[in-house]
Amino acid sequence: MVTHTPMENLMTPFMLESGHVRGRIVRVGSVANTILGRYDYPPLVTKLLGELLVIAAMLSANLKQEGIFTIQIRGKGLVPLVVVDSVYGGELRGYAEVSEGANDAIRAMTSYSPQAMLGEDAYLAITLDPGQGMQRYQGIVGLEGDSIAAAVTNYFTQSEQLDVEVKLAMSERSPWVAAGMMIERMPEGEPLAREANQEAWRYAQAMLGTVKKDELLDPLLDAQTLLFRLFHEQGVIVYAAHTISVGCRCSRARIEQLLMSMSASDRLEMLVDGKASVHCQFCNKTELFSPKELGLVQD
Ligand SMILES: [Zn+2]
Repeated sequence: MVTHTPMENLMTPFMLESGHVRGRIVRVGSVANTILGRYDYPPLVTKLLGELLVIAAMLSANLKQEGIFTIQIRGKGLVPLVVVDSVYGGELRGYAEVSEGANDAIRAMTSYSPQAMLGEDAYLAITLDPGQGMQRYQGIVGLEGDSIAAAVTNYFTQSEQLDVEVKLAMSERSPWVAAGMMIERMPEGEPLAREANQEAWRYAQAMLGTVKKDELLDPLLDAQTLLFRLFHEQGVIVYAAHTISVGCRCSRARIEQLLMSMSASDRLEMLVDGKASVHCQFCNKTELFSPKELGLVQD
């Protein structure tokens, strides 16, 4: 008997046996619920943030040893910012900003449209900070195509000259489950290999096209079973899954260190009703510091 581990909070990399196409499958359950539950978002904003969580989980696998991967979409509309970042090892965090008074307008929308929520001049930016003092890299493209999957495909075509295709899925209601599958075409290599590469890419695209959203979301369908179901004809290598968790870099000790690096007069200016407060938007949590903790009064 084969036992299946529920595909929850996992990122599973794979490669077609021919070596021409690689990809990833992501499914986040409790991780998505924790992050999406920190604010009372309109459902369409929840979906938008949920989709970006999946993209970040897919792409942060490119991080080595340490570093931070960030994906953000920005605009001038009802939702000016959605940002998700991930550190090496799979810790995710993210939030969406909703313009003041925009909640009702978003709740009144009848269909899911990232462009309609983000508004004019919206763009998608991906930043890779490799850490260890290495050069930070950022790519930006206009938010074209009215889905996050299309925007990401477009990003890779324009910014990286890479063929990538993505399919995303999100549960209709809480408890939230967000999932996705991505395929990426490998470099073509020798002229003789070009035709095989083209053929493998078209095959992978066709198979991705057949994946149903329910299959991506099904907690009892693990990535390996789904991938064998899809690619059994050409063969697929499924690698060990990476765990995805919730994490933030806003520890109280870290905030305190940051505050103490400011001048005493700046620290004094932060006091409201005798306390300095620092809010982390990712966690939606406020840390309060007394004048004594800020070194502003003697014992
Ligand atoms: Zn935080």
